[in-house]
Amino acid sequence: MDARASRQSWRLAFGPRGRQVFFFLLTWLGVASLVAFLLGEGYREARHTAEATTLHASQLVAERTRMALQQLQADLELLATSVPGDAFRQGGRFREDLHGELRRYVERHPGIRSLEAVDAGGGEIASTGGGLRSTAIFGQNPQAFQAPLLAGRLLLIDLPADRQSGRRALGVGLAVRDGFGVVQGGLVAVLDSAYLERLLDLGNGPALAGLGIYRTGTGRAVAYRSTSGDPVVLPSDDGSVRHQLPEPGTRGGLARAGESAGHIYALQPVGEHALYVAASLPTEDAFAEWRKTAALVGFSSLLLFLSLSLLLMRLLRAGRQDELTAARLVESEARYRTLAENSHDVIWTIDIRSRTYTYVSPSVTAMLGFAPQDLVGKPFDATLTRESARRMAGEIDLRLRRIAAGDQTANVFVSEVEQVCSDGSVIAAESVSSYLLDAEGVARTILGITRNVSERKAAEAALRETNRQLHARIDETGRLQAALQELAVRDGLTGLYNRRYLDETLEREVSRARREGNPLALVMIDIDYFKRVNDTYGHQVGDEALRMLASVLLANIRTEDVACRYGGEEFLMLLPNMPLEAALERAELWRSAVQDLAITLGSTRITFTVSLGVAAYPEHGKTPDDLTRCADQALYRAKNDGRNQVSVYGACQPVDLMVKRGA
Ligand code: GH3
Ligand code: MG
Ligand code: MG
Repeated sequence: MDARASRQSWRLAFGPRGRQVFFFLLTWLGVASLVAFLLGEGYREARHTAEATTLHASQLVAERTRMALQQLQADLELLATSVPGDAFRQGGRFREDLHGELRRYVERHPGIRSLEAVDAGGGEIASTGGGLRSTAIFGQNPQAFQAPLLAGRLLLIDLPADRQSGRRALGVGLAVRDGFGVVQGGLVAVLDSAYLERLLDLGNGPALAGLGIYRTGTGRAVAYRSTSGDPVVLPSDDGSVRHQLPEPGTRGGLARAGESAGHIYALQPVGEHALYVAASLPTEDAFAEWRKTAALVGFSSLLLFLSLSLLLMRLLRAGRQDELTAARLVESEARYRTLAENSHDVIWTIDIRSRTYTYVSPSVTAMLGFAPQDLVGKPFDATLTRESARRMAGEIDLRLRRIAAGDQTANVFVSEVEQVCSDGSVIAAESVSSYLLDAEGVARTILGITRNVSERKAAEAALRETNRQLHARIDETGRLQAALQELAVRDGLTGLYNRRYLDETLEREVSRARREGNPLALVMIDIDYFKRVNDTYGHQVGDEALRMLASVLLANIRTEDVACRYGGEEFLMLLPNMPLEAALERAELWRSAVQDLAITLGSTRITFTVSLGVAAYPEHGKTPDDLTRCADQALYRAKNDGRNQVSVYGACQPVDLMVKRGA
């Protein structure tokens, strides 16, 4: 057995569980011993009571029998004195008188079945008859007959039962002496068994299985009462009591049958007579009450044993569970300690009442430069900046109030704090605090994990800055893109839309006009003799003239109108949802406005005019190409008709639609 196994068996034997088993065994042994002792006492008591009962009954009957025999002896002695002494010698002469005397005596004593007088040799002198002739028996052994007669005691004679009635009888003989004490003969009475049986009547006495008077030596029953009807009150092989009986004449003691015999009995000698009284009780009856009690006690003890065993089993199981839990606790403690001691984060506990650290994990050295023992016992704000300390104190107060108010969500919270390192530098940290409650729900401890988030913070800040720059760049790009888009559709010199844009827009607007059933007008504009302006004043003046024209056009359009530089010094105005008449009016407005323009170059005022051609949807064309062509043709007509005028498309159009220069 190795050391570990021996330690285990030692623990099992003398550990708490071994002690529990020992205690329960001791308790059970104690209870069992007590029960056994009490049951033993009860058994002895029951036996004693049964013995006393049989003893008292046998003593009573023995005493009654003794007194009855004493009385009979006295009576017979009295009778003997009344018999003349000669009657035993000269029977013939006194026979009649003797016979009469005997008969009268028998009549007076109902218990005596018959009475006879015998001579010293055992020969019959006189007899009442009706009974057994005792001389038939005595005559065979006169010596045996005479010896008790001489001793002056009653002689008891066993008689066979009456053949007809089956009744038992007991012969009782008494010697008759003369004046000198010489035995003359004897008187022999035959006692009826009924007489003796009356002696057995105990009235309301104890219920015995058997009670009887027996002859010493032979064990023959003289009279008996038994519940079985059997003369044998004590079991034996030959119908007699086989045990050693007290000798006649000695004071009776108590003899007992064994348990196997199934009875408890008492034997009591009847005075000095060769008789004894036996009383018996079946052991079963004697111990009936005790058996009931024993069964009840046994059952109760069994229950007690079972409940004790159950209790023990539960205790052992609970003990095992406790040990298991304790082992798990140790293991879990070790695991968490390892975790705490190997974590980069600082794990700590704060006692809420004193608000001081009760534990700080070793990683605090790497994070803040303090040793754990420098901080244990110190106030919780020892390593916080003033602002963080104030905020944390407020937060703890708030949380405690919320927990006290039963707020379940207040137990855990995350906060950002600034920690002061041992070298005075400040780092950003994130703390997760859990409030640990006791059984009453009161917060006693704060368990926290603090992580250095300086690098993360810096990374976050850098990320934020990058993000901001990215957004700025995206905005810029958007703006540039919009400008580029604008540039793509705008004319650089005038800022009006270019032809490409017009082509797209015209297509769309014509479709819409068609779809919605609205009118649409196009006005094509061309500067008159512009080549001359260029040639006379230079290209830059020409450009200025183009810009001024664009301004005039833009100043007089609606938001939905599209002003476009169509080519060199040609412009096209797209006027959605505008009928022909309105378009003509608008064209005229532009024409007259341009006419009023002047470019000042030193002292020279340079003016110029435009010609305008108008076409409308749906009157003149239904496609962008048709409409453009019609407007161009109308412009061509305006040029032909002398310039500085508005012309509308269509040869057969009434003249009043033509707006003439200066008209
Ligand atoms: P008409 O009345 O018939 O239109 O006579 P015109 O001189 O205007 O004739 P034409 O249309 O042939 O002349 C167009 C001139 O416009 C030619 C060109 O030099 C000038 N021009 C075209 N684009 C520009 C420009 O962007 N700037 C300047 N300054 N001149 C331009
Ligand atoms: Mg031109
Ligand atoms: Mg021109």
